[in-house]
Amino acid sequence: MISALKHLTPSSPMSLFENTIAQMQKAAKLMQLTPHIEELLSHPQRILEVSIPVKMDSGATKVFRGFRVQHNNVRGPYKGGIRFHPEVDMEEVKALSMWMTIKCGVVNIPLGGAKGGVIVDHTQLSARELEGLTRGYTRAIAPFIGPEQDVPAPDVYTNPQIMAWIADEYSMLQGRNKLGVVTGKPLAVGGSEGRNEATSQGGVYVLQEIVKNLGLNPKETRVVIQGFGNAGANVANLLDQAGFKVIGISDSKGGLYCEGGIHPQEAIACKREKGEVGECFVAGMEYTTNAGNACRKVTNAELLELECDILVLSALENQVTKDNADRVKAKFILELANGPTTPEADEILKAKNILVIPDILANAGGVTVSYFELVQNEANFYWSAEEVDQRLKAIMVSAWQHVDQLSKQYHCTLREAAFIAALKRLEEAMLARGM
Ligand code: NAD
Repeated sequence: MISALKHLTPSSPMSLFENTIAQMQKAAKLMQLTPHIEELLSHPQRILEVSIPVKMDSGATKVFRGFRVQHNNVRGPYKGGIRFHPEVDMEEVKALSMWMTIKCGVVNIPLGGAKGGVIVDHTQLSARELEGLTRGYTRAIAPFIGPEQDVPAPDVYTNPQIMAWIADEYSMLQGRNKLGVVTGKPLAVGGSEGRNEATSQGGVYVLQEIVKNLGLNPKETRVVIQGFGNAGANVANLLDQAGFKVIGISDSKGGLYCEGGIHPQEAIACKREKGEVGECFVAGMEYTTNAGNACRKVTNAELLELECDILVLSALENQVTKDNADRVKAKFILELANGPTTPEADEILKAKNILVIPDILANAGGVTVSYFELVQNEANFYWSAEEVDQRLKAIMVSAWQHVDQLSKQYHCTLREAAFIAALKRLEEAMLARGM
């Protein structure tokens, strides 16, 4: 048993990091991973915890807690997003950093895994306070990041503006432009074409391959989407454009179900105006879309259990668990969020023949175009949207084909196969480097 799991008792709930290790162990056993490689990957290489003092608008100084975990860099510089969330903690950041190492291995890009987080409710900060917090966090982790060392990116409740502040602060500290310190920036300061939609687009490319192989008709394929931020709203749009029928959406405050279909652009405009998707399309007591489709409000718990073909999880981790997996009615789950399905839920879904397209493959389009952004920054030479898209599609389709082939070879789930793909590459790199 790996030492990271030592304190686990059968009755204690597993932390997200322990879930991640359990996922790796299943795949490691199937592929007979060299034992010391499994042990090395069970421990992040560096863990930082920082205090970030911010002068608030009131004049008082408030100190925030932040983290950066660098899991593994055997295949290239550490890479991973920064999350601003009131409930983020070190175990979560450790898990997310490990998934990044694995994800870069799945899509075979030369990067390692890291993740960052700051405990904060961003809705309680003014724009000036948010900028102060971002710049303070950047100064605190600056000695450990950089284009060749560790490259952050956006994650939950961080965005291109926040990335631009990080790039600016770090460049000022270095005394020269170092835009490649962070990805997911606005186009005006070294961002890449296609980065905003990349996570969702990558997932859609994989989904389209599966739908094509199974001979399904997108027009008759009903989609429910949990989460309506960068990943969720973009995937709604892209699936709608690809002809799929989006019938349910949700955000942190609740969801909306429209049997006749939701037009994502309408929903995006409505959320901008009303603040939550559950409040959209209100007409008297009836909920209708502009196209006249009847809708009703649903809770987030109900949304996950709606009758549909594809359930897209694009909010947070631990959403499908042993408590609700049995009631999921979708035929496929596309995991755009990281860690939305627990290991116990995976077993239940497998028994129900629900195909789970795992996070480490499904959402890897984000880090793939982040890698493109880093390459463009370092070369100071920028690609067209078409070039980015072509390269993204080639990588996602090839990663899907490889994972699909491994799942047949090892008679295992797509998650186990994706782990095997990554672990084989990590093992090869570690052994070649003499680890
Ligand atoms: P975001 O902040 O843009 O959006 C998060 C969305 O989830 C918001 O709409 C929020 O209201 C909603 N949400 C929060 N809690 C919810 C709940 N309990 N039920 C329903 N909805 C809820 O974040 P994002 O960038 O879209 O990230 C979403 C997920 O995708 C995260 O797990 C993230 O790690 C993962 N991811 C994002 C990227 C990326 O490039 N943005 C890349 C890979 C993975």
